[in-house]
Amino acid sequence: MKNQFLCTNCAKQFPSTNHSPRCAECGEPLSFVTIQSGSINELSPLKYPFWQRYRDFYPYVNSSADVSLGEGYTPLTSLAKLADELDLDSVYVKNETINPTWSFKDRGTALGVLFALNLGYTRIGTVSTGNMAASVAAYGARANLETFILVKGDMAVEKVSPIAIYSPKLIRVFGDYGQLYDTSLKIGADNQIYFINSDVPIRVEGSKSIAFEICEQLAFNAPDYVVIPTSAGGNFRGIMKGFREFYNAGLIDSIPRPICAQSTGCAPIVKAYQQRSYAIKHFGQTSTIAHGIGNPSPPSGNAVLRLLTEYNGSAVAVSNEEIVSAQKQLAACGIFGQPASAVPLAAVKKLRQDNTIEPQATVAVIATGSGLKYTAAFEYHQLQSYETKVAELEICLKSLLS
Ligand SMILES: [Zn+2]
Repeated sequence: MKNQFLCTNCAKQFPSTNHSPRCAECGEPLSFVTIQSGSINELSPLKYPFWQRYRDFYPYVNSSADVSLGEGYTPLTSLAKLADELDLDSVYVKNETINPTWSFKDRGTALGVLFALNLGYTRIGTVSTGNMAASVAAYGARANLETFILVKGDMAVEKVSPIAIYSPKLIRVFGDYGQLYDTSLKIGADNQIYFINSDVPIRVEGSKSIAFEICEQLAFNAPDYVVIPTSAGGNFRGIMKGFREFYNAGLIDSIPRPICAQSTGCAPIVKAYQQRSYAIKHFGQTSTIAHGIGNPSPPSGNAVLRLLTEYNGSAVAVSNEEIVSAQKQLAACGIFGQPASAVPLAAVKKLRQDNTIEPQATVAVIATGSGLKYTAAFEYHQLQSYETKVAELEICLKSLLS
């Protein structure tokens, strides 16, 4: 039963050895069956990976292969200054920038590699333009698997190199990049390559651990809201599945209301939500500095819309200017996230202004990846520095004292 896939839409069941991540009946994404009971195994995070600490919630991960690079167990940092500025009870940032390849993707990739090994694969792959490509390349190297990374044909060399350093078989693919998700799955099935793409069920399971950790870090008082920068929708699904499973297990008393945060330059889910539609339409041409959430046709978009209804959530889009401002505010608190990581904070500011989020709320925002992944964003900031000679250093310093 626990090894079954369930359709997120029509609830039809499939065996999890069915390698397709989509429902054969309705085409919507599949998911591992929701866990109904369990407890936290008191294994130390210093010694054991998250899927062993939370192993009641990962019954299908039974490989003992040593693939961990130390993913997960990230800080949940309280930002009192920001909470004051926003007139909120509490604001917490789940800082995913400190994962082994500097983004949350490592959680799903580690599980994906274990699952591929369980199924007997020696080849893995992914389709990505950013965080996921580096993550799969790193874990493929760690597990000594033949690793195929498919990137956009015109990807800039400074973005390709941080992936290529792990020595995967990196292929630049020209043509319609949007088709690659489906094409790669088909080619993978024909050539025994396990593609760990954006929202495949095992990757979604990795994101559950973000919710598990938040619950532990808040002494099992779940936040009122969780604000998630959303692209394909897999991370959103995983985080909400994690809260649901801890709730089912009696570990928390409530499930946070989810906020889907997107940028105005690529907001297919927000648009459908505002139109009260249950089906995503292709957003068309995108234009956003939050490249990490730039998917115009999210494969789990409809599933996210269903979760927003189920958990009384909301969806909001923010502009480039609002993203840059939020990125600066986060940095002023000591956390440097990529533009996509600043999107949830910008969303909270907006939702406070129209009082969608009430002042007495506890809010957790997810900072998904490191600012060093997208240094092009520096040009949007007015960054300051000074210069002087050694002999004049004290004069210079004194002129800057406040
Ligand atoms: Zn279905």
